[in-house]
Amino acid sequence: MKITILTLFKDLIESYFDHSIIAKAKSREVFEIEVLDIRDYSLDKHRHVDDAPYGGGAGMLMQVEPIDRALKACRKDDSYVLLTSPKAKPFTQADALRLAKKEHIIIICGHYEGVDARVEDYIDERVSLGDYILSGGELASLVISDAIIRLLNDAINPDSLMEESYDNYRLEYPQYTKPEVYDNKYVPSILLSGHHANIKKWRQKMALLDTYRYRKDLFEKRPLTVQEKILLEEALKEEGEQN
Ligand code: SAH
Repeated sequence: MKITILTLFKDLIESYFDHSIIAKAKSREVFEIEVLDIRDYSLDKHRHVDDAPYGGGAGMLMQVEPIDRALKACRKDDSYVLLTSPKAKPFTQADALRLAKKEHIIIICGHYEGVDARVEDYIDERVSLGDYILSGGELASLVISDAIIRLLNDAINPDSLMEESYDNYRLEYPQYTKPEVYDNKYVPSILLSGHHANIKKWRQKMALLDTYRYRKDLFEKRPLTVQEKILLEEALKEEGEQN
């Protein structure tokens, strides 16, 4: 998989790929990253890439020509082009899974007031991070790249991908590490029991309880099975008994 990011802030993007899990995946050639400075594709002698909007209004808009020229420089037959934009459906884990199957993804970062609407004719899809306005598409491009890269074979241990939040429209169960007691707060004893079947059941219960507490809307996307309903009722009852 190759990811190309078109931006006005090349350094900002490049530094992200030099740390942690993503840097390791890059050095193992799990993916290839290319970052193009949109200014390099400006025909203007001052390397301008933006101008005032027709019809008036605040701020500057990124022009279509430098973006189209940058796309022409990096686009291949198997490229899939994303435009970061607040005017789109919010990006989800399902999108990350779908995009992780592409050979080459190009992500365009807008800035200022956004991009000339004609850029739309050169892309495959718009992606938003969520219902708020960022000052540029850089963070969005990094979030999208990161979510995709960690799904690629070998990027991380496949076991840690198995039971993560949003997998299957459920949040992940709570996890604990050393010490066993901190500030009089104990790690649930079941996790120290070594009884794998019980641990598995407890985790499933807690995952349902957290989903119920924090993201009940996920039960609309994938309704509770009969078995899950029983587990959740048990969890809620136990919680009631504790309080
Ligand atoms: N005037 C525009 C916002 C432009 S923000 C509007 O009201 O719709 C400038 C750039 O930041 C956008 O072109 C886009 O690339 C990026 N951006 C802003 N918010 C975003 C979001 N929620 N998701 C993804 N990209 C976003």
